[in-house]
Amino acid sequence: MSKELTLKEVGSMFMEAQSLILCFHVNPDGDALGSSVGLARFLKQQGKDVRVFVDDVVNDFYKFMPDIEMVERPEVGTTYDVDLLVVLDASSKDRIGVVGECVKAKTILNIDHHVSNTKFADYLYLDTIAAATGEIMCDLFESMGWATDEKVATLFYTAIIMDCGSFKFSCTRPKTMRMAAKLLECGVQPDDIAEAIDTQKRSTMELLTKVLPTLTFAYGGRVAYIAITNDLYDKSVHTDNFVNYARYIEGVDVAFMVKAVESSVIRVSLRSNKTVDVSEIALGFGGGGHKRASGCTIYASIEEAIKQVLDALGKVL
Ligand code: AMP
Ligand code: MN
Ligand code: MN
Repeated sequence: MSKELTLKEVGSMFMEAQSLILCFHVNPDGDALGSSVGLARFLKQQGKDVRVFVDDVVNDFYKFMPDIEMVERPEVGTTYDVDLLVVLDASSKDRIGVVGECVKAKTILNIDHHVSNTKFADYLYLDTIAAATGEIMCDLFESMGWATDEKVATLFYTAIIMDCGSFKFSCTRPKTMRMAAKLLECGVQPDDIAEAIDTQKRSTMELLTKVLPTLTFAYGGRVAYIAITNDLYDKSVHTDNFVNYARYIEGVDVAFMVKAVESSVIRVSLRSNKTVDVSEIALGFGGGGHKRASGCTIYASIEEAIKQVLDALGKVL
């Protein structure tokens, strides 16, 4: 069980630590990267010894983000001793992979916004109505009176828009937009970021043409899903928004994508349009996330994984 902190206590913890490692979930997204790299940039400017770790490769898609080259993959077998390990945008320890084993920290602090948070760290700042961990960063900077330079602002803005679908998702609050407005005042160029996000690599579009034919409906059209079979899987291809092709279809309540990262290791991305809480479905398979967007991994063949997800959905539809 974690001790929950106020933002001021979180801020003081950062100021007191001299050496810090920031980390986030595997298969990192814009929120994990933007909130962590933005915070790391600021802490470096304060003279802290800061590193940013993820037990994964960062997809080229995120190359447009300032200072993204700061993100390192820790070496297995090496021990990293630090004052403070900060786990951002991750709800459980297994989500940070080997970072949890190779970093020996005096204190572990978790900053997160997932309803499925497992309270694994020594200290926790959890805000489940924040649209993104990037929003929590804006709150922290504001409550501490810390300045966001243009690059930090760009990182936090990217974090926010990637998790709230550029203000389209239900997690978007008036406060989300007020924060975004303040970040624009710091020099963020929203058109440049939108263009970077919307521009897909050819490899992504080529894969999409092969994945779209797998679109299948179930439960009278209330569920739609697509599949990336293992022969089509390519780690370097960015596929995070593919599930939306199944999601935004008339009559669809729940959409999911299954991706065979190995023939019997199936990454599942679930999205709900309204009524169904997909975090409950993901939790049932040892995963987690938010009511409208969640994920899990199923260790079975892709056909069996699809069957298991459909069975679980059948119980709640
Ligand atoms: P994704 O489908 O990978 O875009 O993930 C949707 C949301 O669910 C994100 O907030 C993820 O952080 C979360 N999520 C995905 N996979 C897992 C997992 N295995 N355990 C906990 N949360 C997850
Ligand atoms: Mn995330
Ligand atoms: Mn997030």
